[in-house]
Amino acid sequence: MQELPSVTSQIAKSDKTLFSFEILPPLKGQHFEHIQQAVEPLMDFKPAFVNVTYHQEEFEYKQLANGLLEKKTVRKRPGTVGIAAALMYRYHANVVPHIICGGFTREETENALIDLHFLGVKNLLVVRGDPQASVKYFQAEPGGHSHALDLVKQVQNLNQGKYLEEDLLNSTPTNFCIGVAGYPEKHMESPNLESDLQHLKAKIDAGAAYIVTQMFFDNQKYFNFVERCRAAGIDVPIIAGIKPVSVLSHLHKLPQTFHIDLPEPLVKELKHCKNNQAVRELGVEWAVMQAKELIQKKTPVLHFYTMGRSDNIKKIAETVF
Ligand code: FAD
Repeated sequence: MQELPSVTSQIAKSDKTLFSFEILPPLKGQHFEHIQQAVEPLMDFKPAFVNVTYHQEEFEYKQLANGLLEKKTVRKRPGTVGIAAALMYRYHANVVPHIICGGFTREETENALIDLHFLGVKNLLVVRGDPQASVKYFQAEPGGHSHALDLVKQVQNLNQGKYLEEDLLNSTPTNFCIGVAGYPEKHMESPNLESDLQHLKAKIDAGAAYIVTQMFFDNQKYFNFVERCRAAGIDVPIIAGIKPVSVLSHLHKLPQTFHIDLPEPLVKELKHCKNNQAVRELGVEWAVMQAKELIQKKTPVLHFYTMGRSDNIKKIAETVF
């Protein structure tokens, strides 16, 4: 099989804004067709790459007949590596599996990277991972990484042929192109924008080659972020993450979950929506408006968060790509 291109080489070769999207592995028990329904309509727009998120295990408590609680570990969305391989095989998609710190020891991470290397995966998005639903703050696995920076360093070591076993003979270097997450409105745990920016710069200095932003609904936040990054000496491509609003509850849930602002004009229009269908239409309209301006200002890639459904992303892509 031909080697897949790096995200950065695709950007360098294109004089147009590229299209890409992110999918979530389906909930446990669902068939691959579930993913196909979301992915297939978007393949017509020739995505430069397709990201597949990673979800760590969660703890659940089940009440037993004797009244005691049993702690159970469940992985609700397994299959990131399998989905990535299936998308490569079926659509020749340039997949970007996400690699996370949460739930992984260094050894498990190394083994996962070896699997991805054997599969021919070229690009990774390296993130720390969200805290598990049952805890407030992120907890690293014993023997794992606490910050995405350390995971970037581990991948970079592998890219130089440095495995965890230092005396490994004839080790083959990998050649992963590493992306990391950036937050135009600041990561929720960061005390301020500047401190967040310095941590982002450390990931770039350690070898990350591009940034994918958290979703934003006000383009000015993205433009300001790019400007701050450039002033701090971060000169890698900054890919814009876009999520069209699609249900009424997004009005509260998006700010609550992602710690982002919804601009007042969008909030006003959302409040006038009578049902989720109206919100979905508004979401498309707003994202098209964002996309047109971002393209006009030569943003390298518009990266759409599908959350498992793609009819709205298809409408946006039909209008702007
Ligand atoms: P980090 O870069 O480690 O930063 C986390 C926080 O720690 C920040 O506040 C940062 O400023 C601070 N920090 C960084 N380094 C240090 C340090 N050395 N000392 C002190 N503070 C430090 N989550 C998933 O579970 N699965 C996914 O697939 C996934 N994909 C994502 C894709 C994108 C594009 C984005 C934007 C987010 C994604 N997330 C995913 C969510 C992400 O895991 C969370 O936002 C997480 O809380 C932070 O991840 P990070 O990689 O930015 O972490």
